[in-house]
Amino acid sequence: MSASGSRVAGLGLAVAVALACADSGQQAGPDAAPGRSLILVSIDTLRADRLGAYGYTRDTSPSLDALAARGVRFETVIAESAWTLPSHMTLFTGLPPTLHGVVSHERRLAASVPTLAEVLQEHGYRTFAFTGGLNVAPNFGFGRGFETYTSAMRTYDSEEMRPIDFRTALAQATRRIAGIEPDEPFFAFVHTYDVHCPYDPPADYAQRFDTRPPADHIETRERCGDPHFNEMQLTSGQARFLSDRYDASIRYADDLLGSFLEQLESQGVLDRTFVVVVSDHGEEFLEHGKIGHQTLYIECLRIPWILAGPGLEPRVVAEPVGLADVMPTLLALLGVPPPPSDGASMLPAIRGRGAEEPATARFSELGTGPDLRSAVLGSSHLIAGTEAAMLFDWRADPGERRDLSAGGPGRSADLERALASWVDHLETSPLRSRAELQFDLSEEQKQRLRALGYAP
Ligand SMILES: [Zn+2]
Repeated sequence: MSASGSRVAGLGLAVAVALACADSGQQAGPDAAPGRSLILVSIDTLRADRLGAYGYTRDTSPSLDALAARGVRFETVIAESAWTLPSHMTLFTGLPPTLHGVVSHERRLAASVPTLAEVLQEHGYRTFAFTGGLNVAPNFGFGRGFETYTSAMRTYDSEEMRPIDFRTALAQATRRIAGIEPDEPFFAFVHTYDVHCPYDPPADYAQRFDTRPPADHIETRERCGDPHFNEMQLTSGQARFLSDRYDASIRYADDLLGSFLEQLESQGVLDRTFVVVVSDHGEEFLEHGKIGHQTLYIECLRIPWILAGPGLEPRVVAEPVGLADVMPTLLALLGVPPPPSDGASMLPAIRGRGAEEPATARFSELGTGPDLRSAVLGSSHLIAGTEAAMLFDWRADPGERRDLSAGGPGRSADLERALASWVDHLETSPLRSRAELQFDLSEEQKQRLRALGYAP
């Protein structure tokens, strides 16, 4: 039997045992809502601080704000990485990048690590995904557990397969959900790059928040893959222009999401379905000299997590969380036993019974080494790599302009200790898997990834 076959058989047995327990009422806790459906939406590259629900003053997100107002909003969500592939794998496995191992385009998830979709499918969920592909292409392991996983479609005027945009993904998801029987639970994953560079929303949105002087216009299309993009001497006006377009893209995505949810509500689907919106990392606009998401400053790490659905009361959860907590939380909410992971179920907090425990630090990493690590504890943020560590108070100084690390010995000692024990944990964790090497990225995949600014 192949390694993959053994894993599936093993998972099947584990799930059968778990199901038997669930049937006898031993697994689903009193806070769970078994049999509900789940829609997980990932809006790639979405900074929390650009949404009204998180305090932004521009009207970028009326639909997300409304969702947050009737559901649960996690105030401090720190992504475990600053780029798409490892962050989404954390979302799908509850493991930080070093533990799941999918930290470069040569890797795919080890067959021994169960994913959110696999667990739900084993529990009788219909499963389907409509995504922007590329870094969330199915062959990295994201496709496992899905009946269908759509990343690209043939356009009407050519035979070429193109990554699908948010509008198409949502339309496809709507159609698919309409074909599911009301008593059949489903898990839909919808992902979009519509707010990612090149920040190119439709014309009727593009100038919505435009503050640029005409001379500062900059063409972004085809630029994300330009290796010199970050070395260009952009004026502050040009950076602001990109940032304005980013905001406009958010509003566009938000409007699409709003129409999608309205339609589902009118069909009665939302009465039995939890809706979760997250992102995988933020975005930077020259705050620290770069465009994109290539650092671990707070603008690249702080993301939204909003959750609404039947029986959930409006609530803001203050405890800091990460993407690794999403899978255990959602499975607990659905009454499905979670596989071992590094995250924690936030279900008690969602139900208003948060433990009064001291806040824990959240950790992030970047690079295959990794080359850069970060720890957030309360309002303190430590970034450590090959160069001298930096310390910021990200709440008092949201632009992270004042490095406090020189403010006296011991200033960052707590966070340095926390980070060191985190590294120990990663190195000794039994959950650490060896991601498989994969060599089946097609030339087209590589070309499209390069166009988006990645270099496979
Ligand atoms: Zn991303």
